[in-house]
Amino acid sequence: MRKVLKFGGSSMADATQFAKVKSIVQSDPGRTCVVVSAAGKRNKDDHKITDLLYLCHAHVKYGVSCEGIFGMIRDRYITIRDELGLATPLEPAFDALWDKLNGGISQDELVSRGEYFAARLMADYLGYDFVDSALWLHFHLDGTVDTEQSYAALQRYAEGRKVVIPGFYGVMPDGSIKTFTRGGSDITGALAAAALDADVYENWTDVSGFLMADPKIVPNPEPIEHITYAELRELSYIGAQVLHEGTIFPVREKNIPLNIRNTNQPDHPGTMIRESFEDMPEAGDRFITGIAGRRNFTVITITKNGMSNEVGTLRRILELMEKYNQNVEYIPSGIDCVSVVVAADRVSPCLYALLGDLQKELKPDNIHVTENMAVVAAVGRKMVFKPGISGKIFAALGENHINIRMITQGPEELNIIVGVDNKDFENAIRVLYNSFVK
Ligand code: ASP
Repeated sequence: MRKVLKFGGSSMADATQFAKVKSIVQSDPGRTCVVVSAAGKRNKDDHKITDLLYLCHAHVKYGVSCEGIFGMIRDRYITIRDELGLATPLEPAFDALWDKLNGGISQDELVSRGEYFAARLMADYLGYDFVDSALWLHFHLDGTVDTEQSYAALQRYAEGRKVVIPGFYGVMPDGSIKTFTRGGSDITGALAAAALDADVYENWTDVSGFLMADPKIVPNPEPIEHITYAELRELSYIGAQVLHEGTIFPVREKNIPLNIRNTNQPDHPGTMIRESFEDMPEAGDRFITGIAGRRNFTVITITKNGMSNEVGTLRRILELMEKYNQNVEYIPSGIDCVSVVVAADRVSPCLYALLGDLQKELKPDNIHVTENMAVVAAVGRKMVFKPGISGKIFAALGENHINIRMITQGPEELNIIVGVDNKDFENAIRVLYNSFVK
């Protein structure tokens, strides 16, 4: 059994957090590959090391001294080392980095050092081997990951060993360091899990998994214990804040379960994400797995008598959408009328030109624009087996005087999406939560 674990910034913030990580890793002999983020905030007024490193780079770029900020970064790691009683030789490495910084270091290389130092310390603390991501995580010239080369390299480095790996960065074909976008250590963990054909990818953070709704809208929402990759995709697309978007693909492709866990509450099972739970009938009896939504859509509704019998109308509408670079989110349709739902901020600069073209090309009887609309989705893999879910949704919204402006359901019956006025957004989420979960 091989488990790949990734610990986020808050799990790496100080010596106390390092100790929690060690006890988690040591409690299971399968936990042999550990990926780490840079040290994060110790409290809400603190700074993330990665933010400080970006700040250092900006100072150097504008010719302003960053000695003070650099000192804060150095002190954070040296304090962790000393409090843990380690002997990691950090000083020479920081001195060399300081010289390089003043001689013109790339932004990516500089900010990657947060993960680099964190991983060196964690490797010493756990007694694991440090494997630099510059040795195995290879990028193509276009910035995508060369998974073939990377997986083969990590297999060689990790074979029969217990290892700690820095997250967030890898190496370009010319040998320079390149980072992912912010939060990218999640991706490093997923790639390591895929490379090593792990039995599970555990992503350790400071929350006990996903919640069924945004806690800023619903007070104390229930946690999600089991969710499929497809459900997660729906929920994150529609607005739930989850993992870095590149995280899912490498593990899903290899059918590796992903478990979100809480370093500060290690006994909590967190959220388990898998391709399917068909072999686990005990995995949840709810019909709704989660509720999420987004505000600020514009709906363009085109009505034309006889449209249903005309060939090619939809194609012409979509071609115009493409011409104006609009990403069409939903296309609810009726007989002789079709709506396209697009993001308001993207369509508003070209709305009148687009409407003019639609008018010219399609000669419709009517074009109607609804602005300030929000979409709310109830997502659940079990909905497909249960009649009456949509009826319940509409009744609940109706009873609460929320006007439904649009209804659509994905063909896989994994979600039911309703469009409501922006002003009803939060209320709609609360109403759905209360009627399905409470
Ligand atoms: N340290 C990086 C960041 O703050 C990457 C990560 O933590 O995932 O974005």
